[in-house]
Amino acid sequence: MDTPGQEHIYHFAESKPLAIVVYCSDSRFQRAFREFVENELHLEEGEYIPMVISGGVASLSEPLRLPKEFKYIKDRILFFLERFDSVHRVVLINHEDCRHYEALKSSLGAIFLQHVQHMTEKQIRDLSSVAKTLLGLGAPGLQIELYYARLVKNGTTTVRFEKI
Ligand SMILES: [Zn+2]
Repeated sequence: MDTPGQEHIYHFAESKPLAIVVYCSDSRFQRAFREFVENELHLEEGEYIPMVISGGVASLSEPLRLPKEFKYIKDRILFFLERFDSVHRVVLINHEDCRHYEALKSSLGAIFLQHVQHMTEKQIRDLSSVAKTLLGLGAPGLQIELYYARLVKNGTTTVRFEKI
């Protein structure tokens, strides 16, 4: 319990960001995402710009069907790349059982899953196509890293990250 009048000290990161990390806002995955970024990508909080967007890269994957969302997110990423010359990595993470993707499937209909058998395949294809889009932005030396977070059900449910 906090005593009345006790003041908390909140950290401020002085350093410039090294990466942009795009992932879904799904609350069930937040802890896994944060721990993955720190433990496996070796980025501490304060060293990366988190872009927490419902659907992960979904908004960037449909420039023709979702042009406003596409432009908004693409422009934000461009802004960060121009603002911070320290950013050389962009990490894109999609995840299994994404409700945003399910909602897009309902609203866009059959064309949404055109050319793919399964939602997982769609999400993995989107990671690759968005990587190409970002490489086309013309930022020199940009490294794009792609991950798909799967659910592993083995008594308890955990999250496993696969590099794409
Ligand atoms: Zn999601």
